Amino acid sequence: MKRVLNFIDGQFRPPCSGRYLPNVNPATGGVIGESAESGPEDVDAAVVAAARAFDSWRRTPAEERSRLLIRVADLIEENFDELAQLESEDGGKPIALARRIDVPRAIRNFRFFATAILHAETACHITDDRALNYTIRQPLGVAGLISPWNLPLYLLTWKIAPAIAAGNCCVAKPSELTPLTADRLAALTLEAGIPPGVVNIVHGPGGSAGRALTSHPKVPLISFTGGTKTGADVMARAGPLFKKVSLELGGKNPNIVFADADLEQAVATSIQSSFANQGEICLCGSRLFVEKTVYEEFVDRFLGATKKLRIGDPQDATTDVGALITEPHLRKVEGYVELAREEGGTILVGGKRPENLPERVADGYFLEPTVIAGLDCQRRVMQEEVFGPVVTVTPFDSPEEAIAYANSTRYGLSASVWTQDLQKAHRVAAAIESGTVWVNTWLLRDLRVPFGGMKESGLGREGGFESLDFFTEAKNVCVKL
Ligand code: NAP
Repeated sequence: MKRVLNFIDGQFRPPCSGRYLPNVNPATGGVIGESAESGPEDVDAAVVAAARAFDSWRRTPAEERSRLLIRVADLIEENFDELAQLESEDGGKPIALARRIDVPRAIRNFRFFATAILHAETACHITDDRALNYTIRQPLGVAGLISPWNLPLYLLTWKIAPAIAAGNCCVAKPSELTPLTADRLAALTLEAGIPPGVVNIVHGPGGSAGRALTSHPKVPLISFTGGTKTGADVMARAGPLFKKVSLELGGKNPNIVFADADLEQAVATSIQSSFANQGEICLCGSRLFVEKTVYEEFVDRFLGATKKLRIGDPQDATTDVGALITEPHLRKVEGYVELAREEGGTILVGGKRPENLPERVADGYFLEPTVIAGLDCQRRVMQEEVFGPVVTVTPFDSPEEAIAYANSTRYGLSASVWTQDLQKAHRVAAAIESGTVWVNTWLLRDLRVPFGGMKESGLGREGGFESLDFFTEAKNVCVKL
């Protein structure tokens, strides 16, 4: 049984409340530990420590900050197996996925921003022969970082690395549902030599610890990743304090397959984009649109591949689909399957809890990968983020119709388009309302590109120099010549 404490000023400390939240392994339903149930007092202590550390960290040369961040990346790499194991136990995700995506990406995040700060440039504007303007970018102080449970270490490091690389100190609040890798990361930052107070991690519920961070007057910047509804609450609290805010929110992403696509590749990748991490990835393509002339063939192949997915113990290296994060979340996803039936949809495969699970995981929160057909785009199941292993399939007649379907929700995070016609790919990509459009691929991530959502999928962009811009304030210095 692991007890997770807060990490404040380089020390592991119990929460002021003295209370702890149970930490449940979603694959077994068993309690594997507990984590600090923190509130405003803990957040305040972390902010004080971060503000104190800021004075010297902001003056630490970029080369030294870079060296320390690279050391963190190296330590994550040295502890690769343990971190993958913890991520899988904590979140119910297949260990193979944690090894393939979560941990490698955490390493890349630190290496990427550690080296990016060595190449950052600023602008200079000459005003005829009258003045020389130059821009300096300065860190803001204490960065508040709030991350979700679906990619815990991946998304936490996506925030911590650029925040501290740019010279800020931070107070991070991971999801209370997945505290284990954040706790390990805290220890690794200490081992790497990151000075006390630069990285602080406060565990606890979003409603208390998270809100304390978004409304703290000494935290000028909030980077939030989570649901759209929570994002609105973050904005409502941070807005009146004029904080800089970045919101990475939910998605209901279209995955459009044209008749001229390489169907074999489209099927194989669509299986990933539908069901990877049990569909609990904001970028999952949960609405599949297939051109009518190949609809039947595509659906046949897609259903065949879905049935081959191995659902079971996430610790088994051959498992493709693990457990959903909590029992209430499983029930919510099942509720959407039921709603799909009521809305006139047909469940082509899945839709129920699997039978014959290995004994160790018999009480876990599993749902079979589910494919639903026959729903109108305006139905709730086609409009709301389900965030589970559930995908809808819908035929379309023309590119215009596919675009209209794709844009018919309030979300705009990402999309995939499958076609071998380059002209069509560019045209459709330009017309889709989303922050990212993948053509003939999915989840191919270059960390330099702008990442974020349109409409209710978010505010602002992260990634590459966009992240470093977000975590710094631009200042113009105008010198009269
Ligand atoms: P969530 O409920 O919004 O929680 C996200 C984080 O915010 C957690 O740390 C949560 O803490 C905290 N929180 C909850 N209420 C808060 C409040 N009022 N003020 C401040 N913080 C608060 O989201 P989730 O269920 O963890 O994650 C799933 C959602 O995240 C999905 O909608 C998914 O699409 C989205 N997501 C988006 C991206 C992206 O890049 N756009 C990436 C990943 C996930 P507790 O969990 O401890 O309550």
